[in-house]
Amino acid sequence: MSFDKLGLEAELLRAVRSEGYDEPTPIQAQSIPVILEGRDVLGGAQTGTGKTAAFTLPMLQILNGREAKSRAPRALILTPTRELAAQIQESIRTYGKNIRLRSTVVFGGVGIHPQIDKLRRGVDILVATPGRLLDHAERGTVNLAQIEILVLDEADRMLDMGFIHDIKRVLKLLPANRQNLLFSATYSDEIKRLSDGLLHNPVMIEVARRNTATELTEQVIHPVGRTRKRALLSHLIKEDEWTQVLVFTRTKHGANRLAKQLATDGIDSTAIHGNKSQSARTKALADFKAGRVRVLVATDIAARGLDIDSLPHVVNFELPNVAEDYVHRIGRTGRAGLNGTAVSLVCTAERPFLRDIERLIKKTIRVEEIEGFHQDTDAEHKVNMRDDAEEKRRQFAPKRGRSSRGGGRSGPGGGEGFRKPAARSKRSGGGGQRSGSSRGR
Ligand code: AMP
Repeated sequence: MSFDKLGLEAELLRAVRSEGYDEPTPIQAQSIPVILEGRDVLGGAQTGTGKTAAFTLPMLQILNGREAKSRAPRALILTPTRELAAQIQESIRTYGKNIRLRSTVVFGGVGIHPQIDKLRRGVDILVATPGRLLDHAERGTVNLAQIEILVLDEADRMLDMGFIHDIKRVLKLLPANRQNLLFSATYSDEIKRLSDGLLHNPVMIEVARRNTATELTEQVIHPVGRTRKRALLSHLIKEDEWTQVLVFTRTKHGANRLAKQLATDGIDSTAIHGNKSQSARTKALADFKAGRVRVLVATDIAARGLDIDSLPHVVNFELPNVAEDYVHRIGRTGRAGLNGTAVSLVCTAERPFLRDIERLIKKTIRVEEIEGFHQDTDAEHKVNMRDDAEEKRRQFAPKRGRSSRGGGRSGPGGGEGFRKPAARSKRSGGGGQRSGSSRGR
């Protein structure tokens, strides 16, 4: 299959070629012709499948072929996160570099006035997160009455993040006659309800779920004493000479602390999470992408939708307590056909989470012990015991209005042990000794 057969005009084909894409991805091959026909589309595709180009290329062509009646935007793309919004606009710029259409992006966390100025000057394509878009609508600084094409990108994430009411309010501001494209990685009852009310006679396009990234990505678990995680991470980064590592922590505070600690170990690191200003997040991501920092420490929310080309290493410094997040995390690597590795540092208390993850991905993840790190030292063990007792007290203390999700399952000492590794092999050139095994069931 070649891009030339999809009905795209020369200016767009040139832009695609200069990106070095040889052939369309499955979602592109299937979506581009039907979007060009003006059909509504329900696309089942995750980040990493090439879905951004799948809707952006035909959208650019359609708008380029029609006359703008005013300065108001003619296409609206709604996305769950600021980062994703910024990335989509970047793609629009890239693919639209040979045609004269204007685009802008609006999201919260940054000043609204520069956005107002840009909207006033006129745009053809507006990329937005729902909350800030409604701010503009309330202030009367955006006119959505000329929208001809609406895209809901990562619609399932938007629903997860509680944007359904915002989306419904936005829909009321749009003209009835328009083309609608909805992309979602999962197809839940909620998505079905949303798409039933939104799409007219849609073409349904489904491409392989990104869960298959779990096959592209080499996954490994290093059992580790709880207090040895930081030392093990530094050891792995240095010994294996990892140059670009995305590390996940469960909390914003943990992300900050780890980035600082790694820096004191001589490893350039920065953190990205929801408490950081938008400009700090943008800078952290840019520094990481450009190779100016070696490690980006992120929380799940901050990492959603991040498109980092050919990311070789993802590390779960802590396992997520929601198993699906593991799949999203490791989906940051092994994308667009490139192999990557996903390393999880797992202490005893996290084993129940690991079981949930393995159940979800229907796979037993390889375990590799790294000599010297897989147990706490005696002193650390004492600290752990104290923390554990404290944790137990908290768990059993009466509490009000707290969800039991996740928290109660991670009881220290709970769960079964790792199987003893079958074979040991000395690694060359490093201090650490590893032993590999598959954990059979
Ligand atoms: P997306 O799913 O839109 O986030 O795209 C994932 C990645 O795939 C991006 O880094 C794109 O630059 C890349 N990409 C998109 N289309 C193609 C293609 N036809 N061939 C190779 N890479 C692509």
